[in-house]
Amino acid sequence: MTVRSGVRTDVGRARGRNEDAYLVRDPLFAVADGMGGHRGGNVASKVALEAMRGFDGTDTDSASALVQDIRTANETVLARGEADRDLRGMGTTITAVLVQGEHATIAHVGDSRAYRLRDGELEQLTEDHTLVHQLVEEGRITADQAGHHPQRSILTRAVGVEPSVDVDESTIELRSGDRLLLCTDGLTGMLSDEAIRDVLASEEDPQGASDRLVEAANAAGGDDNITVVVIDVLDVSAHPEEARLVGDARTGPPPASQPAPVRQPRRWRRAAILTAALVIAVLAAGWFGVRAYANGQWYVGISNGHVAIYHGIPVRVLGLRLSHVAATTDLPAAGAEQLEPWAGIHDGITAASFAAAQAIVDQIRADLASAGGG
Ligand code: MG
Repeated sequence: MTVRSGVRTDVGRARGRNEDAYLVRDPLFAVADGMGGHRGGNVASKVALEAMRGFDGTDTDSASALVQDIRTANETVLARGEADRDLRGMGTTITAVLVQGEHATIAHVGDSRAYRLRDGELEQLTEDHTLVHQLVEEGRITADQAGHHPQRSILTRAVGVEPSVDVDESTIELRSGDRLLLCTDGLTGMLSDEAIRDVLASEEDPQGASDRLVEAANAAGGDDNITVVVIDVLDVSAHPEEARLVGDARTGPPPASQPAPVRQPRRWRRAAILTAALVIAVLAAGWFGVRAYANGQWYVGISNGHVAIYHGIPVRVLGLRLSHVAATTDLPAAGAEQLEPWAGIHDGITAASFAAAQAIVDQIRADLASAGGG
């Protein structure tokens, strides 16, 4: 496996400092987009990727090792945030790719993205962990509305915010000639996938492509920090990493010559998963299984006429509730139901965590304020 890469990060034209970070350490590549008040965002992205720097990719199961590495970064960022009042609440996205032989492992949290360009076609390999993406998945807003939504950067998952983090992981097959792109939302917020594709398909040099993408994002406004890493897969049949690994303890055979099994990126369809998980839970573990499953879930619903956060799932089984109110708010449910994105609140809007549910409540509050003000 031979790769060639280019990288560029830029503060953009609207921000005072660059809170993005990147890691280019073949075979590991990553981008991170930090967030948090004061200097928090700046520290979070750098600390997270610094924590991943020790990763050497020599594990036999490098995919789970990469996920574990992001979990370690999560703990490191959280600990730094708890130790320093100025940094409290900081967090970061991480999108990382490990290229090995004829496949690449992608591990991802947040709204930075990975893409693959193959034969002139651009394919997004990651799913945004944003509130607007969740609303699109649930059919509450259209993809077009999501693209222009004022709160499109609200994350439903981030690194360094909670003691544990759910990391998306997928493995893709690689061919010679493939080009991978890692980028922060400062690129994708400014350029359409088509515009990104045009640059990647027309500029042969990976550094040149990185430079041109950043310049195009700035020309389109440069509203946010922009970071891009472009990785060209030159030859999947060459295996120089066998010799390159420091202190190589590897005794297994070289990567197999037949294509590696391909796992598609996860497509979370909440309603389907909820239903499937319920059925499985009922069959496999009965009532206690359902209760245990419900204990890991959250949603935003209505309690006594007000918007509230529930712990559990918004269904009844045999007439029994599987949730309880975890937090109440002063937001009138009737007002929220008048707003298009929140019309379904009486059914419950599911969330992956309490923080994600809180983000939904914050969004409802902002929407109610702007509806009342306008
Ligand atoms: Mg950003």
